[in-house]
Amino acid sequence: MAECSECDADISIPADALAGEIVTCSDCGASFELDGGSGSFDLKPAQTVGEDWGQ
Ligand SMILES: [Zn+2]
Repeated sequence: MAECSECDADISIPADALAGEIVTCSDCGASFELDGGSGSFDLKPAQTVGEDWGQ
């Protein structure tokens, strides 16, 4: 489990997740890239394709 930095919801990380994988918060829809390894990941905000830029 990791915590969403946007809304503090718990995000479940699959046991077989790899660094660089994208996980999405089911509460607010924010996407994060897994950073780290050895079963302990940090969440980096992911830049998803198709988002509106320039706001
Ligand atoms: Zn969230």
